[in-house]
Amino acid sequence: MVQKKRIGIMGGTFDPIHYGHLVTAEAARHRFELDQVIFVPSGRPPHKLSHQLTPAAERLLMTLLATVPNQNFVVSDWEEKREQISYTYDTMLAFHQHFGNEAELFFITGADAVLEIMQWRRIDELTDFCSFIAATRPGYRLDDFQASPKLTAKLFFMEVPALAISSSDIRRRVAQGEPIKYLLPETVEMYIYKHGLYKEEKN
Ligand code: ATP
Ligand code: MG
Repeated sequence: MVQKKRIGIMGGTFDPIHYGHLVTAEAARHRFELDQVIFVPSGRPPHKLSHQLTPAAERLLMTLLATVPNQNFVVSDWEEKREQISYTYDTMLAFHQHFGNEAELFFITGADAVLEIMQWRRIDELTDFCSFIAATRPGYRLDDFQASPKLTAKLFFMEVPALAISSSDIRRRVAQGEPIKYLLPETVEMYIYKHGLYKEEKN
């Protein structure tokens, strides 16, 4: 029997992508023996409508720059190309239809998002064709987390080294002239300065 391909999907705004995202994706790849991790920068995510996002094309480019050194990381422009808001359900269904039953899908997410997971659109239907890998991230407590039996069966927790890095902190640092070196790949840092991103605080 041919072994199913194991594919991780890492969604996010990636405004900008940083080592928290990359370490998490790599840890998930290793731990769950994924063949590939696909980074999917969002178009207009439902929960971030108020925050003024950097144009999707630029977030996609930064994600590409950051993932070049990893053979198993690829980037998809699927959400970026869609005009509408993309819910995780829509994205995962599209990947499921693309890969068919030849692949097993794992949605990789940080613990902050897991706390909201029960409110996600069609979460129980999502578990029919997708598992979840939740990275525990410093500052988020999971003690009270209660999932449905269906979700519990498909939800795996994974600890990543304590990386308190966040995109919002990086944006704030750039606006305030603080260093961002070693928080994200150098190419992304250079892209940010070259294109004058995050000069004004918009959070
Ligand atoms: P922001 O500060 O703007 O919310 P962010 O750093 O949380 O940005 P997102 O693009 O919102 O980045 O996150 C994409 C995914 O990566 C989410 O599932 C989030 O939980 C996860 N994530 C973000 N930062 C980390 C980190 N340092 N360690 C592990 N997971 C992370
Ligand atoms: Mg976030």
